[in-house]
Amino acid sequence: MATAPALQLPDVERMTAEESLLWAYEQFGDRLCLTCSWQKQSSVLVHMVSELGLDIAVIELDTQLFFKETYETRERLVERYGLNLIQPHVLTVAEQHAREGPNLWERDPDRCCHIRKVEPLERALGPYDAWISGIRREQALTRKDAQRVEWSERYGVWKIQPLVDWDAKRVQAYIVVNEIPYNPLHDVGYPSIGCIPCTRPVVRGEDERAGRWAGADKIECGIHADSPGGESARHEREPGESTLGTSAKTNQSPTQSGGA
Ligand code: SF4
Repeated sequence: MATAPALQLPDVERMTAEESLLWAYEQFGDRLCLTCSWQKQSSVLVHMVSELGLDIAVIELDTQLFFKETYETRERLVERYGLNLIQPHVLTVAEQHAREGPNLWERDPDRCCHIRKVEPLERALGPYDAWISGIRREQALTRKDAQRVEWSERYGVWKIQPLVDWDAKRVQAYIVVNEIPYNPLHDVGYPSIGCIPCTRPVVRGEDERAGRWAGADKIECGIHADSPGGESARHEREPGESTLGTSAKTNQSPTQSGGA
């Protein structure tokens, strides 16, 4: 656990997304990075950084289990914005099968997320002092207390979250107005998009993240947890509520389009 270095924080909660990016760039320079998993928030932030003319490293958190639409979205954004992606090493799926047994995501999704997301992120953040992510408060109860700027003891970096107070409508409007490429799965029932084995579309009335790890009570991959073991962030069940099935997630706070 790393303690926060001294930092003179302005009133970041009153800043716009753009102002917070400009402040972070001025503060951290080339020790600031942006992570992308190619959901809508990635599209917004890549565009915003480009519009502001900021030279910020972009780290791709690719589990190698994304949908083809996700990879196509990545290619469109790379081409349009001239991105030079940093891609941390991840075990191939075959290597994971050999080491951990087949389909680890079915038996132990927390460990699978740790291997394919958390560990690569920890390594990738090594050279940086600050990390821009696209999480938003309304996405889940687990994110409702997110701050625009907060210290991560786990990773030893400042987290910059420019879109923390944006709702899904605002994200969509920004994308439409600026004609930014985005993941088309968002238009066909996937408000939150992760790996193929752990993502399904949602139906009307379901929480946005009901389609992530459906059938289990896992609701976070763990990269935004501030302590080791955060992969197991769970939906807090009501007495008598099932531990399995989508019903376990439909009572979360109203959320919209999702982050990692
Ligand atoms: S989302 Fe599923 S497949 Fe992807 S890393 Fe986590 S458990 Fe593994």
